[in-house]
Amino acid sequence: MNYFLEVYGRLPRAGPGSDELTRQAFKTLPLLPDIPRILDVGCGPGMQTVELLRNCSGSVLALDVLPEMIDRTIAEAERAGVSDRLETVVQDMKKMTFPGSSFDVIWSEGAIYNLGFETGLKAFKNLVKPGGYVAVSEAVWLKPNPPVGAVEFWEDYPEIDTIAAKLEVVKRVGYEPLSYFVFPKSAWTEQYYDPMEKRIAECERKWRGISDAEAVFSEARNEISLFRKHSDYFSYAFFTMRKPKQIG
Ligand code: SAM
Repeated sequence: MNYFLEVYGRLPRAGPGSDELTRQAFKTLPLLPDIPRILDVGCGPGMQTVELLRNCSGSVLALDVLPEMIDRTIAEAERAGVSDRLETVVQDMKKMTFPGSSFDVIWSEGAIYNLGFETGLKAFKNLVKPGGYVAVSEAVWLKPNPPVGAVEFWEDYPEIDTIAAKLEVVKRVGYEPLSYFVFPKSAWTEQYYDPMEKRIAECERKWRGISDAEAVFSEARNEISLFRKHSDYFSYAFFTMRKPKQIG
């Protein structure tokens, strides 16, 4: 039994976010083609994939390394009646095999950290067309001098940094920054930590006393509790950017 997937793989989202934030970021992309081709990297259960399909007439290629996530994305797109414009691929984002300049938009919510922010933005720049767009959400510090508990929350992702530092990376990689905005706390709780708490309680009833399962539950609970205590210090921010028409 994969207890991690039993908890995290059943949530509406696999990270912070909301349909409203997906739409807010999408609206910052000007001059999209009528039928854009979008790559959604690390699609998870597909909530933002479906919202992108609802908000344009284009197609989305949803990519994730876990087949279970791709299955959920297909099911969600079918339920929303948008699956005719969905393509999917089970692929490691570290080994993406698409030809250069294949996409009008590259989208990645809560997943670029798997590549690292700068490495990911460079990889996406090769795949997006000149004049095309990249939209990513990424962990950011909101205040200086975070307490130990906040640092502990992010110990597995040392690339968390200030918004200013992230924007410097965006420019260094050669994009034109378009917009950024910080996620509200509700984007962490409503679709992610609140359902996670309910799911942990359900799983605990089934697998109490199994040490592998309890380790997953305790880590998830610890994460939620650190978030509650220290969320004034960090969040995710959405960054949208354009690859210049003249490749720079
Ligand atoms: N975008 C979704 C969302 O916001 O709900 C999912 C975010 S979740 C934090 C990160 C996703 O990246 C997971 O679905 C995970 O399976 C996927 N992932 C992790 N490593 C990956 C890799 N090397 N290649 C492709 N997908 C990966």
